[in-house]
Amino acid sequence: MMIPSNIKALILDMDGVVWKGDAPIGDLAATFKRIRERGLKFVFATNNGTKTPAEYQEKLRGLGVEIDSSQVVTSALGIAFMLAAKYPRGTKIFMIGEDGIRVALEEKGFEILSVENAPAAQVVVMGIDRGINFQKVTEATLLVRAGIPFYTTNTDRTFPTPRGEIPGSGSWLAVITSATGVEPIVAGKPFPYLMELSLERLGTTKADTLVVGDRLETDIAAGQSMGCPTAFVLSGVSTKAEADAWKPAPDLIAENLSELVK
Ligand SMILES: [Mg+2]
Repeated sequence: MMIPSNIKALILDMDGVVWKGDAPIGDLAATFKRIRERGLKFVFATNNGTKTPAEYQEKLRGLGVEIDSSQVVTSALGIAFMLAAKYPRGTKIFMIGEDGIRVALEEKGFEILSVENAPAAQVVVMGIDRGINFQKVTEATLLVRAGIPFYTTNTDRTFPTPRGEIPGSGSWLAVITSATGVEPIVAGKPFPYLMELSLERLGTTKADTLVVGDRLETDIAAGQSMGCPTAFVLSGVSTKAEADAWKPAPDLIAENLSELVK
């Protein structure tokens, strides 16, 4: 195993590490069997807030990997925790996003407004929304321009699929930031919030927790800013040339997760 013997836990990215779209990267059942045999704890920390932890648990089960839903930390969950620390239950939120964000916010007692009721919002939340349209973007822009607090799950400009990279949350976000001149507060990587939540769930220290990801400017940057060792995998978005130029260099570089734990 490439992973040093002092490492007790892994914080794993999902897109580009365990799958691309619906296609698994390698034999996940065998990979996670090795991870368990080695006694490594793990959580998944993903900027992708479209699905709930339970939906990710189900997706992994379909690929032969059994986990507890508490082993998934999403940027949607991160944003819900951030907002719950700051705003009371019942706060009215206009969100551009899918079920992952909706469920996470509703679980914290927030009221999600329809696009027709958007002008009453006290907070605007934005994540990736495959049903985004001009009306939603218009309402969000008007609210943000009026000074309503603006949060986003993540700023990833693209999203890896088997056909190539498609627009990610950051690309859609650019429409709002361009129209308002306002930068949002970000829950996802490279900001430390998801890493903190992950370490809390693992109960391990920074030094003995390895952060694994396919994107330098989010996963690796987040791990490095937390002070965790990092492993970069070549199965996703960033390239070997980009990793070689990245300072400080990731601690480990592997073709994919399977090679990392071999
Ligand atoms: Mg990724």
